[in-house]
Amino acid sequence: MLSYRHGFHAGNHADVLKHIVLCLILRSLKKKDKPFCYIDTHAGAGGYSLDSDFSNKTGEYHTGIEKVINNTILKKLVPEYFEVLDKLNHEEKALRYYPGSPYIAASLMREQDSLDLLELHPSDYENLKYNMHFARNAHVHHRDAREGLNALLPPKIKRGLILIDPSYELESDYYDTIKMVKNAWAKFPTGVYAIWYPILGKAIDESWNFTRSLGKAGAPGTLKAELTVKEADLLRGMHGSGMVILNAPWGLDQELNEVLPVLTEGLRQNDNAKYTMNWLSEPK
Ligand code: SAM
Repeated sequence: MLSYRHGFHAGNHADVLKHIVLCLILRSLKKKDKPFCYIDTHAGAGGYSLDSDFSNKTGEYHTGIEKVINNTILKKLVPEYFEVLDKLNHEEKALRYYPGSPYIAASLMREQDSLDLLELHPSDYENLKYNMHFARNAHVHHRDAREGLNALLPPKIKRGLILIDPSYELESDYYDTIKMVKNAWAKFPTGVYAIWYPILGKAIDESWNFTRSLGKAGAPGTLKAELTVKEADLLRGMHGSGMVILNAPWGLDQELNEVLPVLTEGLRQNDNAKYTMNWLSEPK
């Protein structure tokens, strides 16, 4: 089932959290000159127009990037995220485009690094190819995440980040993601894995069980960071999201300790907004 289109959600509060964490992990990998690889298993379209019919229908970016685009403290803490936004919107007076994870990664990575971007939706695959034209070290695949990741691991370049960002359209996506992570980690245990997940209304939320299972995947240094913008509703709505990072780079927890309070304040919808961060498995 491929009914999900990220264009409806681009730039929302969950994207902002995910993309800031992505920037911080890339920053850490770039501390060494040695090349690294980036695999984005659910890459999306790579870039989104915030005045498209998709964005106009939901207006979700009003709850996300629009609230923090001028936040001077965040700009100091994560300048690279705002530089990518500026690059994409360079000729625009207002915020008009929002970058997807592949665009952010390709903009921040160096020529010795390489990217593999997997996307199954036929239209978003075409959009992704178009949006990634500028990145000569990016390989765009029309491919299923699980099959593709299994085929790409272990990578030739022995340092790397795997971003796993499914759409969780089906309840089984949680279980499938856990299986995918365990399989990938067994083949490439030195990789950093960043897994995004939604925090949903009480009737359907899976985040607690899901993150507990990821913490037991066997990897060391499993860090969990969550941000909710308001209280949970009783039914289905998404009021927050989280990232679980396996083999979290040294110092990421300290950086998130600075970023999360500012981000939560910037994105909050009422006084029930909050963040949490904790280790699910100890660092080595
Ligand atoms: N990572 C993107 C970003 O941050 O900009 C957003 C990705 S979006 C949440 C999830 C994407 O996964 C959608 O574009 C969807 O078409 C794609 N997708 C869904 N099932 C897939 C599968 N089995 N293999 C690869 N891509 C899939």
